[in-house]
Amino acid sequence: MPQSPETPLRLGIVGIGKIARDQHLPSIAASPDFTLVAAASRHATVDGCANFPTIEAMLADGPTIDAVSICTPPHGRDRMVRAALAAGKHVMIEKPPGATVAEIAPLRHHAEAAGLTLFASWHSREAAGVDAARAWLADRTIRRAAITWREDIRVWHPGQDWILEAGGFGVFDPGINALSIATAILPLDLCVDGGTIAVPENRASPIAARIAMRLPGGAPVSLDLDFLQTGQQSWNIEVETDAGTLVLTEGGKRLFVDGAEQATGPDAGEYPRLYRRFATLIRGGRSDVDLRPLQLVADAFLVSRQERVAPFDF
Ligand code: NAP
Repeated sequence: MPQSPETPLRLGIVGIGKIARDQHLPSIAASPDFTLVAAASRHATVDGCANFPTIEAMLADGPTIDAVSICTPPHGRDRMVRAALAAGKHVMIEKPPGATVAEIAPLRHHAEAAGLTLFASWHSREAAGVDAARAWLADRTIRRAAITWREDIRVWHPGQDWILEAGGFGVFDPGINALSIATAILPLDLCVDGGTIAVPENRASPIAARIAMRLPGGAPVSLDLDFLQTGQQSWNIEVETDAGTLVLTEGGKRLFVDGAEQATGPDAGEYPRLYRRFATLIRGGRSDVDLRPLQLVADAFLVSRQERVAPFDF
């Protein structure tokens, strides 16, 4: 298996939809670490590589590949990860890593037993301000935090009925991005106290949610999610500490302390950084499967009150 830094890894991509076209394909094309040799999608194809209707057909009949990147919706992804690992391929998965915690958790051990890499990616953790926020918060005492993640479903998920079906996560699909950042920058682990989840009468998953969480010691952390925000979008995390207030805005891109903008690392782009990280994991023989954001979403569903709200149509 070619794993020297000089040899690009041969990649197959699965699930050619919005995020594959917007982010994965351009990032792979620009990556020195990967060459796209195959794609698997039921309806779509990618120019310049071998195309297959399913991952199984790609693995059985396709060109030799070293790694697979899975960009389908979360429901049913575990079957694809198992198939790819069983065929001896390294695997990167889009967020959320699966539809349930229990279906994904054992796959890390499957990968490690087979000497393969499993990378459960969290693209928002690659935003430019996240590393600097983690460093600033590392030795502060946190008094409270507020996460506000409000976006327009019609802009970011046009016509994606799957997202409001059972297992589609609803507004927790973007909300889990906020939780992926929060779990990366807060020095202690969060847990969920309760909340309210608003589900449209004609759908199975939430369109809005208000969740109360806390840090060990009791500092409250609120999570405010809304899928019906038009105009300016809000992807903000505010953390009040004993030494000032940190605010991450624009989905983790910009960082402020007490109102003053802070220097961050270079903005290399979230997806180019993800593919670089995937290559580094493969070449180092390691996996990265952090399920804490998924666990928090599962817990929010467990302890929140559900209310029915007006029907939603795209
Ligand atoms: P999408 O536009 O619906 O694309 C997903 C593709 O997966 C579909 O086009 C479909 O292609 C394939 N697919 C396979 N099984 C499917 C099923 N049961 N239902 C629906 N499609 C299925 O969705 P997306 O926005 O790219 O999101 C995919 C993943 O990326 C999600 O986990 C999402 O959280 C994540 N993501 C999305 C965004 C965003 O802004 N949209 C940003 C970051 C991450 P075929 O019909 O050809 O098989």
